[in-house]
Amino acid sequence: MADQVVADNEMTMDDEEESFFQDIDLLQNHGINVADIKKLKSAGICTIKGIQMTTRKKLGNIKGISEAKVDKIKEASQKLCDPGFLTALEYSEKRRHCFRISTGSDELDKLLGGGIESMAITEVFGEFRTGKTQLSHTLCVTTQMPGRGYHGGKVVFIDTENTFRPDRLRAIADRFNLDHTAVLDNVLYARAYTSEHQTELLDFVAAKFHEEPNVFKLLIVDSIMALFRVDFSGRGELADRQQKLAQLLSRLQKISEEYNVGVFITNQMTADPGAAMSFQADPKKPIGGHILAHASTTRISLRKGRGEVRIAKIYDSPDMPENEATFAITNGGIADAKE
Ligand code: ATP
Ligand code: MG
Repeated sequence: MADQVVADNEMTMDDEEESFFQDIDLLQNHGINVADIKKLKSAGICTIKGIQMTTRKKLGNIKGISEAKVDKIKEASQKLCDPGFLTALEYSEKRRHCFRISTGSDELDKLLGGGIESMAITEVFGEFRTGKTQLSHTLCVTTQMPGRGYHGGKVVFIDTENTFRPDRLRAIADRFNLDHTAVLDNVLYARAYTSEHQTELLDFVAAKFHEEPNVFKLLIVDSIMALFRVDFSGRGELADRQQKLAQLLSRLQKISEEYNVGVFITNQMTADPGAAMSFQADPKKPIGGHILAHASTTRISLRKGRGEVRIAKIYDSPDMPENEATFAITNGGIADAKE
């Protein structure tokens, strides 16, 4: 009897998971041929929602997709999509799919309302050695932890600073009694070398999320701005940089909603030279300007405490108050600080 209930629950879960996104192949039933669908896929558009999220102009820029075809594709996908408006009640039902990933520290989880949220971008920023990369490593492992309504979630890690260390994952896996090989096998790693490369990798990520539906739960970019800082220098290139950055962030945002994954990004800080003159209370701020500020759903600042202790503060959140939490960096990853 009990087994039956479990089986039923699992089936319902599977059904729900299945329906999370609509495959772009469905367009075939609405007069779009396989070759054109392939072209869309190669541009990283693999779901019906992905078409909704892409402008006509951008679709038209895909090689081999004429203006007439764009119209046809848009029309077909509109037939398959809900019209866009939902009641708040329906939307709340939809957000039930949203899940949280533990940071490894209960205190930090509490600050975040349960952990790193799916369908959103979470940004942590702070000076060097504040634990941004350590937190990224810890999340690679905690995402895979069973018992929070999901099992063995895979992770994509995009490394722009060459600071990813698989051995750290082993040490963190030990803390949670997880098998090294399995843990490492579930993390897909890519080193990005330029800001363009960083953006291009997202096409691959989208394809991967589509290929293995509901398997990936977190996408990490450590750090989001490092390559943009190198590739664009001076005021003259700022507008160009911000435009490219906006494209990257918009892509991240879409991926998080399209595939119901968390997006976790780290960011650096700058001393604001104008701050001393304008009597700003906090002269250090995250880089990336308004573009990044608006793209991140939740922003957390990190600062150093004594020894291995770090302090996290909510800098901006749609639903959490501006509280603080302390945590510690340990060999087993991010954990609660000892009293
Ligand atoms: P950056 O801006 O330079 O990228 P960061 O915020 O990413 O810095 P991290 O690399 O996450 O900083 O954190 C570095 C801190 O983590 C150091 O204080 C270091 O002592 C600590 N740390 C690194 N490895 C371990 C470990 N195995 N055990 C305990 N602490 C560690
Ligand atoms: Mg780092």
